[in-house]
Amino acid sequence: MTDIAVDMPWLKTSWQTVQERLADGRFPHALLVTGESGVGKRAWADAVSELLLCTSPLNSEAGAPVACGRCRQCELVAASSHPDVRAFSPEKSRMIRVDQVRSLSEFAVSSPQVAERKVAIIDRADQLNINAANALLKTLEEPAPDFVLLLLQESGRPVLPTIRSRCQVVPLPVPSAGQANEWLTRKVAGLDSENRPSAEQLAKALMLAGNAPRLALEYATGEFPGLRDEAFNKFREFMRGQVAVADAAKAFKALGLEDMLWLFEGWAADLARLCAGGQPADPEAVEMLGFLARNNPAWCAHELLDQVRDARAAGVYNVNPELEASRLLIAWRNLMPRKRRG
Ligand SMILES: [Zn+2]
Repeated sequence: MTDIAVDMPWLKTSWQTVQERLADGRFPHALLVTGESGVGKRAWADAVSELLLCTSPLNSEAGAPVACGRCRQCELVAASSHPDVRAFSPEKSRMIRVDQVRSLSEFAVSSPQVAERKVAIIDRADQLNINAANALLKTLEEPAPDFVLLLLQESGRPVLPTIRSRCQVVPLPVPSAGQANEWLTRKVAGLDSENRPSAEQLAKALMLAGNAPRLALEYATGEFPGLRDEAFNKFREFMRGQVAVADAAKAFKALGLEDMLWLFEGWAADLARLCAGGQPADPEAVEMLGFLARNNPAWCAHELLDQVRDARAAGVYNVNPELEASRLLIAWRNLMPRKRRG
């Protein structure tokens, strides 16, 4: 038996809604699942697929339906090879294209192959290009009775209102620091000792991920923290006038556009918090950001946030990450008091 509310307790409320809807036979034909990067949106959607297709669901302790984890359908879903479950995500262009949505629409009206119904997941509905979003509307307006669509949206990234209004919205929260730490510790416990991150590394990964556990797992076991530290050091040196912008931009380029923008966004948000008398999320940046907050009006931080959003929107068209990094670094540098900048 698989129960996501046990593995990821912060998803319990949203999960109960699904179980109740299913028990009542009122399951919506389209859900828009929203949440921060790394809170478990995809894991949640996979669990919903399994529960929707399971042929012999069991009752949880609370009497709600849970997937058995043993039937043929559950096995196929767990192996990511169920022919009646399809996932669509952005391809090279970083967008979901219209031909992917056309193939989704054909899948939606086809007969299920081995299950009673079909499930499609759009992983990053906020990355549908405009033609793709329009093509999807038809599928949403005339839903096939044996088809469920799960759209995943990252917080802060817009989805067209015409799409949003045709879905039931399910927000997934970020776990508490304790829940996130407990989940992460459990996930890395299975790694052999030389690859297992230390408690200190886990704490840092959780800090960088804002307690989004799946993102923290990626950070704890991947190269991101090292690259981030290198970029952060170059950032500080650049602000003090010790390295050229091209040098600093190279360190950011190594992160890739998405992660780089995410870092700049985090620091700009921290600067806005400090300007408003609050606490930053990234304690390592507090000294530099505190100095900037004391020397600049609060609207500067919001301007930086706008610039990150502009860069992200432009990112759809394959911008040069190094150039975007230079542009953002110079905008930050302009916040340094004149005599310090010399
Ligand atoms: Zn089953």
